Amino acid sequence: MNIIFLGAPGAGKGTHASRLKAEKGFPQISTGDMLRTNIAEGTPLGLSAKQFIDAGELVPDEVVIGMVRERLAEADAQNGFVLDGFPRTVAQAEALAGIARIDVVLNLEVTEDTVLKRLGGRRVCASCGAVFHTSRLEDESVCPLCGGKLIQRADDAPGTILHRLEVYHEQTEPLIAHYAQAGLLKNVWVDGDADENYRDILQALGI
Ligand code: AMP
Repeated sequence: MNIIFLGAPGAGKGTHASRLKAEKGFPQISTGDMLRTNIAEGTPLGLSAKQFIDAGELVPDEVVIGMVRERLAEADAQNGFVLDGFPRTVAQAEALAGIARIDVVLNLEVTEDTVLKRLGGRRVCASCGAVFHTSRLEDESVCPLCGGKLIQRADDAPGTILHRLEVYHEQTEPLIAHYAQAGLLKNVWVDGDADENYRDILQALGI
């Protein structure tokens, strides 16, 4: 099954996609993670993407479309995948339609208040990449899994979060109508408990 996770920043796309990968074996194709890996490795793509990401802007369509086209051609993506954070514009969705068949688009719905709380408290391990919320951490600077340093993403700074939400409303939200019209959209309310939200996602996917 080829799945898209749509939703605002902080809706839980990455959290639930990584659980689907761990428990059901779907490759998680996260354009945000791929871009951050490129930045960490200092590739030309990473260098050009960094300024957009840190400012809370979208990376140009041609860059992410090229990246996804290459990733979807890999062997592990031939038997299903979860796209997490792509497409984010109508142009990306149109390009994707020429690259792969999509079976279902889950629109993960949350309130803006929840988004602000989740992103404001998000911490990421600089060593292992695990993601936490400060409300569940005893020490906000040390990764409970590997002892690495926990950091706040540059684009999780308060002003940048608000800008990312504006960008989401302007450029990504139109995809809800786009995929509803294509008959592929299912809405899942994911504002509450993570385990319950995950169960609702499995139910919506019928797995
Ligand atoms: P994420 O980890 O999905 O929140 O993405 C972090 C940042 O990476 C976004 O705010 C954008 O700057 C960039 N990004 C990720 N996916 C895309 C995409 N599909 N199109 C454009 N920019 C993207």
